[in-house]
Amino acid sequence: MKWEENVRKVVPYVAGEQPNRPNMIKLNTNECPYPPAPGVRQAAENMESASLRLYPNSNAQPLVDALAAYYHVKPEQVFVGVGSDDVLSMAFLTFFNSGKPILFPDVTYSFYDVWADLYRIPYRTCALDENWHIDPEDYKQPNGGVIFPNPNAPTGVEESLEMIEEILQANPDVVVIVDEAYVDFGGKSALPLLKKYENLLVVQTFSKSRAMAGMRIGFCIGNEKLIHYLNDVKFSFNSYTMNLPSQVMGVEAVKDDVYFKETTAKIVATRERIKKELSQLGFTFPDSKANFIFASHKEVPAEELFLALRAADIYVRHWNKERIANSLRITVGTDEEMDRLIAFLKEYLEKRA
Ligand code: PMP
Repeated sequence: MKWEENVRKVVPYVAGEQPNRPNMIKLNTNECPYPPAPGVRQAAENMESASLRLYPNSNAQPLVDALAAYYHVKPEQVFVGVGSDDVLSMAFLTFFNSGKPILFPDVTYSFYDVWADLYRIPYRTCALDENWHIDPEDYKQPNGGVIFPNPNAPTGVEESLEMIEEILQANPDVVVIVDEAYVDFGGKSALPLLKKYENLLVVQTFSKSRAMAGMRIGFCIGNEKLIHYLNDVKFSFNSYTMNLPSQVMGVEAVKDDVYFKETTAKIVATRERIKKELSQLGFTFPDSKANFIFASHKEVPAEELFLALRAADIYVRHWNKERIANSLRITVGTDEEMDRLIAFLKEYLEKRA
């Protein structure tokens, strides 16, 4: 077919599966195991269906204002999108335009190369070292931009702010994006570096630490000029991206800082306990600062464990990809869910021995 020659052909990102089975344990997409803040539910109940008649605020201004107040920045420094995937996608389109390759780690969020391909942005991946750390030297070559998550996905490994600053100092002429989807579980945010670097963009999400993956809320904070350019592109793409319920409920989530801190602390405590239990069962993993653990077993292949867990309705994530094929990414769930995971693994490994 001739018309097919001119189709934009892409290999799409593959998200983790979303099964919905009565007794399953879902530890495959790094969602929060706890509900959103109580005010979020209240806001949903109070919403008048008549309000849906009108278009929502195209800037998501109430949410932008709430985030600006929370993070002590100006509203002009905040951009909100439909999940951080939307924010990242818009940022790729806006900032990575030089024709030079952008740089990101070889083992990282697997959407980056998909957006690069979609937007025809050349890219080069830089190998993480044997401990899954970034080597800042790799980011001192000519490039069209830099992006990496901190903590990284799927490893959970955190880089220091000193290292991030070294990369920023080496790259004053391009935009450097730090994807902080998992920063709220004990990581250090790069937000304080915004005062020094006008080319830094920090991206975060409500999907993990704020328990609102289903509402699709992401945001980024940066210099006013960066945000202005981002808005120009967004408003050339789709004006009304974020729906009204997401805006209203997002504000309520930001308001309840006590609940936010309690929830993230609970997940961190569970993560630290499960690290010990997994070690005792013969698993090794890089130290995680995220709401997941990237574990491989000393003797049993990851794929075998993945399939055995799946057959028991315990869903974790496994990729048949170079360097990571023998690891499982296990989201930190509730204590009860994690106890069931550990009990299953213990029994499976004992039986197999
Ligand atoms: N960045 C990273 C590193 C992620 O793992 C994810 C979750 N898949 C996202 C961004 C996007 O999350 P969301 O669109 O739900 O905000």
